Amino acid sequence: MQLTAPLDMHLHLRDGEMLKNIAKSSAKTFSGAIIMPNLVPPVSTKEEVIAYKKRIMTAIGDEKFTPFMTLFFKPSYDKTFLESVRDEITAIKLYPAGITTNSEGGVSGFDVEELRPALEAMSELNIPLCVHGETNGFVMDREAEFVSIYERLASAFPKLKIIMEHITTKASVEALDKHENLYATITIHHLLITLDDVAGGMLQPHLFCKPIAKRPEDREALLKVALEAHPKVMFGSDSAPHPREAKEACGCAAGIFTAPIALQLLAELFEVKNSSVEKLQAFISGNAQNIYELNPIQKIVTLEKKPFKVPSDYNGVVPMYANEEIAYSIKEVTFGY
Ligand SMILES: [Zn+2]
Repeated sequence: MQLTAPLDMHLHLRDGEMLKNIAKSSAKTFSGAIIMPNLVPPVSTKEEVIAYKKRIMTAIGDEKFTPFMTLFFKPSYDKTFLESVRDEITAIKLYPAGITTNSEGGVSGFDVEELRPALEAMSELNIPLCVHGETNGFVMDREAEFVSIYERLASAFPKLKIIMEHITTKASVEALDKHENLYATITIHHLLITLDDVAGGMLQPHLFCKPIAKRPEDREALLKVALEAHPKVMFGSDSAPHPREAKEACGCAAGIFTAPIALQLLAELFEVKNSSVEKLQAFISGNAQNIYELNPIQKIVTLEKKPFKVPSDYNGVVPMYANEEIAYSIKEVTFGY
């Protein structure tokens, strides 16, 4: 099976030692990725975007990979600022305050008028808005509760491309077709697991993430749009590494590390579910190219149906399915034109 120009439309590369340790996990097999800005402090100036991109390029070494940079949304962004930074970024990421790792400086109210200057400027400059859509309600209801905010924003800013990041619920899937300007990313783990896998037996810290995995019917709704490569959905791993000691701890950090095995798992899933390579190609690259108007590096990843034993860790980061065998392996990575 060959995949051309795989794109990861939601990726955490972190910073410092962690960045050095894990950046190649994505850069080897993906052509590019949307890089999340939730560092400490968050990436929110032009200088910080440029400097972070430089650190990423150093960390990936010789690999051919495009980090599509983002800014951490602030309601104070104005048109002059956004124009000045337009060429350095691909999107802007909005976090509700305090909802996930390093999101303390995020947005706390979703008052349309308060957000209007920044979001209208983004519409005019064709900068997509990526949103971590969760309220601070009950953990299983947070995303569904946020759908009304998505709809309000989508109606108020009809020219703004709004990406519902890492959707996990039927409610979000249903919102996709209600507004022309709503899109979504879906992770591999939310296509594979439910809350039962996380907490139904012994607690599985390496499957704990935000938004938390939901009910079987939610997973079914996600699978349906992913497997048919609904044109408004894209793959976004939300691969979010933490050191082993931050996961296997009293107070487990949220995030699942899937970057090195995402393509193999997707190949297996699409085969098991009888979808086609064409659909996987659209889900992993084509849809994202259309939505974001991207022209990625033509990296060709050949996968083969040969068992791959997932390592126990990658430089101290435990991946999903550590020590387990998965059905597909990466055979080679080549380049086309
Ligand atoms: Zn994320």
